[in-house]
Amino acid sequence: MFAVHLLAFHFTKLKEDQIKKVDRYLYHMRLSDDVLLDVMARFQAEMVKGLGRDTNPTATVKMLPSFVRSLPDGTEKGDFLAVDLGGSQFRAHWVKVFDDGKQSSQLESKFYPTPKELIQGNGAELFDYVADCLLDFMETKNLKHKKLPLGFTFSFPCKQTKLEEGFLLAGTKHFKVRGVQDTDVVSLLRKALQKHKDIDVDVLALVNDTVGTMMTCGYDDQRCEVGLIIGTGTNACYMEEMRHIDLVEGDEGRMCINTEWGAFGDDGALDDLRTEFDRELDLGSLNPGKQLFEKMISSLYLGELVRLILLKMTKEGLLFNGKVSTALLTKGKIEMKHVSAMEKYKEGLSNTKEILTELNLFPSEEDCIAVQHVCTIVSFRSANLCAAALAAILTRLRENKKLLRMRTTVGIDGGLYKTHPQYAKRLHKVVRRLVPNCDVRFLLSVSGSGKGAAMVTAVAHRLAAQRKQIDAALAQFLLSLETLREVKNKMRTELEYGLKRETQASATVKMLPTYVCGTPDGTEKGKFLALDLGGTNFRVLLVKIRSGRRRSVQMYNKIFAIPLEIMQGTGEELFDHIVQCIADFLEYMGIKGARLPLGFTFSFPCRQASIDKGTLVGWTKGFKATDCEGEDVVDMLREAIRRRNEFDLDIVAVVNDTVGTMMTCGYEDPNCEIGLIAGTGSNVCYMEDMKNIEIVEGNEGKMCINTEWGGFGDNGCIDNIRTKYDKEVDEGSLNPGKQRYEKMTSGMYLGEIVRQILIDLTKQGLLFRGQISESLRKRGIFETKFLSQIESDRLALLQVRRILQQLGLDSTCEDSIIVKEVCGAVSKRAAQLCGAGLAAIAEKKRENRGVERLQITVGVDGTLYKLHPHFSRVLRETVKELAPQCDVTFMLSEDGSGKGAALITAVAKRLHNVGQK
Ligand code: ADP
Ligand code: MG
Repeated sequence: MFAVHLLAFHFTKLKEDQIKKVDRYLYHMRLSDDVLLDVMARFQAEMVKGLGRDTNPTATVKMLPSFVRSLPDGTEKGDFLAVDLGGSQFRAHWVKVFDDGKQSSQLESKFYPTPKELIQGNGAELFDYVADCLLDFMETKNLKHKKLPLGFTFSFPCKQTKLEEGFLLAGTKHFKVRGVQDTDVVSLLRKALQKHKDIDVDVLALVNDTVGTMMTCGYDDQRCEVGLIIGTGTNACYMEEMRHIDLVEGDEGRMCINTEWGAFGDDGALDDLRTEFDRELDLGSLNPGKQLFEKMISSLYLGELVRLILLKMTKEGLLFNGKVSTALLTKGKIEMKHVSAMEKYKEGLSNTKEILTELNLFPSEEDCIAVQHVCTIVSFRSANLCAAALAAILTRLRENKKLLRMRTTVGIDGGLYKTHPQYAKRLHKVVRRLVPNCDVRFLLSVSGSGKGAAMVTAVAHRLAAQRKQIDAALAQFLLSLETLREVKNKMRTELEYGLKRETQASATVKMLPTYVCGTPDGTEKGKFLALDLGGTNFRVLLVKIRSGRRRSVQMYNKIFAIPLEIMQGTGEELFDHIVQCIADFLEYMGIKGARLPLGFTFSFPCRQASIDKGTLVGWTKGFKATDCEGEDVVDMLREAIRRRNEFDLDIVAVVNDTVGTMMTCGYEDPNCEIGLIAGTGSNVCYMEDMKNIEIVEGNEGKMCINTEWGGFGDNGCIDNIRTKYDKEVDEGSLNPGKQRYEKMTSGMYLGEIVRQILIDLTKQGLLFRGQISESLRKRGIFETKFLSQIESDRLALLQVRRILQQLGLDSTCEDSIIVKEVCGAVSKRAAQLCGAGLAAIAEKKRENRGVERLQITVGVDGTLYKLHPHFSRVLRETVKELAPQCDVTFMLSEDGSGKGAALITAVAKRLHNVGQK
């Protein structure tokens, strides 16, 4: 008993001694977490270098764009072919992808040998051979009659310029084919395929095997965004943000980057970690000085590393009694499969003993223990280094997404990872330790790169089909110059109808006289009250105007909410509420006793008979109070004041907001004779010659006309450009059939048009995975301010997704690109239509004056104009294009509705006083 114990003790001691000896000998290969974190940081820096335009040429990690922008989303379908060149064998595949909601696919493959003379021969012959094999494959599978898209997996570094074009950079591994470098390998394959007249194959994609692996795994797990190969070679790819990829145009979305990380360290960046064995191995390789990282990791080299270590140890007398065998001196004698076998710890030392014996090394028990441990250190270092670089990629992904914690999946393929008994487990463990804030799932790619190439092709196929559908939907929003001219001409016609006595009653553009006949002359002064009703807010203002040398305008205002039940209640309630607000304001300003002149900005179509009389033609925008249409709004206000019986006001003028805007700007610039509002609603006023206004007596001078152009098109004259989305928005509005032009151009409706398009695209399966969420069903959820935010050039797609998230819309990266396009199409059309209308007005003014060129200023107000990132520019460009003889200056109005109302009141008061005298 005692003896057995002693023996066991003796053996343990012996084992420990051997392990210690090897550990000491190879301490340089045992990498601590600190070192690995350092490697990770170096790799991160190298990735940045590879992505930068100026730094890429000298970067060792080439970060090659793959032009793969999307992962499978499960809606792919069809039959695809793939060929796979680059591994140890050449393969042809036929993949059937079913759109059955279960993401199923079927794969049939055939292997073909790649004879050595071809791999080291001439390129044309190799591609002819590939084409021949494919023909054979199609014959066996009875596919010759079909026109099939093909994905080409080619696992050598290629500089891609498109998904279906890539120039071979430099041979790695054993690829020594002549006449292929710097040539587009897709065109080589196409040329070879064209020699076979009886098949019709369309090469759609060139795919690196890492990318193929990611796509294959991505089909089963939507989270997969990294592809990793650890086999004969090693490499990784991942989804990078386009805005970080300098070498490819465009900032939107993501693209898969093939890192080609095997070359990491080729500039000496890893020299402090490389051992004498690494150097020796490199010197004896086919490509000295190249692929230094790969040489520390991939299965092609690990066996050789072990051999070099054993040789040195033996020479130093640390193994095999110092006796070197011929086998041990022979390059390539120890292969990866030997290392894997020796590391099968469950089988004790038997494998090791057998392998060493075969090498004529006559190992002792101690030798076997030591050699097994050498293998472990070498393969563990491989897993460690691989983990460090992978951790760098994962960290980059997480930071790109601005997440504190990230869940993601890494798709993996490669013999070393798959067959080595410990490798996978070690790799997972180290990665999780290095990036504790990433929950990583490692997914083994089952059918490898061939299926991946088919998946890339399938995705490309799906995207092309989707693109067509989206383009078709948005094409309805593209207006040609010709169409815009037509809109301008129609607007001109409608303007004339509105001015003429016989057509005026039925005109859709009502051309309402405002009885504002002049712009301010600077002599206006005094204190005025102003009301502003008709926009998002109701406001009461006190305006102090000074004239002369101390000319200035001072304003105090207070905003009051108008609750929906009042906006859509009775007229009496609405006006009582307004008077209540005025009372609050007078109280607040301490001027309750003063009987101040008041200007009432009432931004709805009003038929006026004088400056202080206005009959409401009809509510627009969000208002719908009863018993108001056809009534005089000044009377209604006066009655409400009387009902309250608390104070009195001198109501001098009813003012449309467009007129207020024009007047405000006119106060600064006498050339301002047009007022434009692009806010909740859309409207324009301008100074018209009295002689053209048939419904108002007199032919002298000018009068401001409130066009109420929002009603343009209510007779169907622009129905040719209205889309089904416009019709849906109209039908869901408070005033169906009315204000058709306004509904295509103003803030109240643009978001709603976008929502209708999004619903339609979702129904077609082009967005949000075809799922119409509860929130997307809600009318008004998509406000126009979101268009401004989404279309902002400074906003990354991630932020677009965040906005959509707030709206309860769960979007992918592709979704957010499409949503942005939709917003752009809708707002651009709005600005162009508005510009066409404005061009008609400017042209009319030019003709009125009878001049060759017109200089004119437009006073503008409205949040859509002021805050949308592109609206104002497109509007200006359109006017310039459609009214080339007019030099139109745009002037932003500061608070037109308040200041303008006061100015109009002042002018009216002055004229009134003059009249009384
Ligand atoms: P009014 O109601 O008097 O027209 P505004 O000119 O402020 O007032 O316009 C308000 C409208 O502008 C809102 O109803 C909304 O449709 C739109 N809007 C609000 N914020 C934005 C924004 N950031 N970009 C574009 N439009 C906006
Ligand atoms: Mg307004």
